[in-house]
Amino acid sequence: MDIQALLYKVEKRLYIGGEWVDGANGETYEVENPATGEVIATLASGTREDSLRALEAADNARKEWERTAPRTRAEILRKGYDLVKERKEEFAHIMTVEMGKALTEARGEVDYGADYLLWFSEETNHFYGETNQYPAKDNRMITVRKPVGPCLLITPWNFPLSMATRKIAPALAAGNTVVIKPAKLTPLTMQYFVQTMEEAGVPAGVINIVSSTSARDVSEPIMADPRCRKVSFTGSTPVGAALMTQASENILKMSLELGGNAPAIVFADADIDLAVEGVKAAKMRNIGEACTAANRILVHESIADEFSEKFAKAVSEMKVGNGLEEGVEVGPLIEAKEVDRMRELVEDAKATGGEVLTGGEAIDGPGNFFQPTVIRGASRDARVFKEEIFGPIAPIFTFSTEEEAWEMANDTEYGLASYVFSENPDMLWRASDNLEFGLIGYNSGVVSDASIPFGGVKASGLGREGSKEGMFEYTEVQMIGVRDPYARG
Ligand code: NAD
Repeated sequence: MDIQALLYKVEKRLYIGGEWVDGANGETYEVENPATGEVIATLASGTREDSLRALEAADNARKEWERTAPRTRAEILRKGYDLVKERKEEFAHIMTVEMGKALTEARGEVDYGADYLLWFSEETNHFYGETNQYPAKDNRMITVRKPVGPCLLITPWNFPLSMATRKIAPALAAGNTVVIKPAKLTPLTMQYFVQTMEEAGVPAGVINIVSSTSARDVSEPIMADPRCRKVSFTGSTPVGAALMTQASENILKMSLELGGNAPAIVFADADIDLAVEGVKAAKMRNIGEACTAANRILVHESIADEFSEKFAKAVSEMKVGNGLEEGVEVGPLIEAKEVDRMRELVEDAKATGGEVLTGGEAIDGPGNFFQPTVIRGASRDARVFKEEIFGPIAPIFTFSTEEEAWEMANDTEYGLASYVFSENPDMLWRASDNLEFGLIGYNSGVVSDASIPFGGVKASGLGREGSKEGMFEYTEVQMIGVRDPYARG
């Protein structure tokens, strides 16, 4: 793949009302490859004025898009799916050079991201309302699901394609128009995706993209404008909380997919080899930079030695390097400061009694590399127990009773993903009853799919993405009460 030629093809400007335009003040910003530190592109940076123009374009396009036949909307999304799949190698290479993930994982994300287009293209035609009668029989009711209105979609850098398609696809399927603000560290995948959707036939103004060095220059003016009716945000909990405060001014509908601190519980009766594979996948996927990453590995004391030894061996065999190289499984961290944070987390864990079983060190640059690391025996006061690690460090803690496992697992403000490994089928229901998390992987290190209702509780957010629930998030229910012809009185 000629990366230079590919990057040259990617639009670097804003897309507003069906036109690619420079930002109002002509400012630009650079995107770097985290594996090499090289600048790979220079993009237009949107201003407050550009953001409002994008909202205006979305508002102007909304009525016509809302009235477009569902079948037509479905066909456009399906065409987008076909084009993304055709361009899979291009999307995967763009993602690897701007975000760092291994090419095999980037290919997986293209498939996963594209699946949202396929899924919601199918859902477009299955948009059922309800009918019922009032118990006193004076009225009958009909409900209609209506598009919510222009949406602001804000996405993070760790999954540059899928975090956006799981918002854009249901929003468009339900008849909404959108303004997208991608993360400034990884905007190129989304720029290329918007170009692709333009080719798929999305009408002018239905999708708009405003990249910017200042996220607030996009979010603040749009959220303060009554034409915006919904914000869907994926990112960190503090930013999500700040947006929720802003959203209260205009009572905006909100979906928030925020941080996580997932427990992976390995019970004494688990298949240990299956657990090693599952926890490794749940922890090290995406360089550990995933909201669903297994953050705290809780292992029953009776199997802790065997599990730790096998797990540390499996992790130590992972190949680290530039994601474009053959066989690499763990790429660079997104920024140099993240390498420093990993060092601090390891030192802190060691200070509370943790022993490093493998890794534990930064790798000399260029690039922001850190060894895949396993630490055993840190205390519950360690930062790796309490904070979202967001990197390739896997801390193992032990428990002695089932009650202790649930208590340790729930001892976090977060509630997104959790994982349970046990060969006892009853444990599935006990896990469901006891775990305060939106997602449970049972004997599986993978939870994500376009068909599932993805989302968290507590500080991990509000609402669900994917499945039929993901589409409801972009609608409002309208009830029509009709006088019953047999009403008395
Ligand atoms: P972040 O909160 O720093 O940024 C996310 C997005 O918000 C970016 O586009 C950023 O430019 C924008 N942003 C930042 N400050 C803003 C502000 N004041 N107003 C408006 N927008 C603002 O998060 P990140 O570092 O890009 O992503 C990592 C975080 O995202 C982690 O906490 C991770 O768990 C979370 N995440 C959650 C999910 C999920 O589905 N729950 C998925 C992926 C990532």
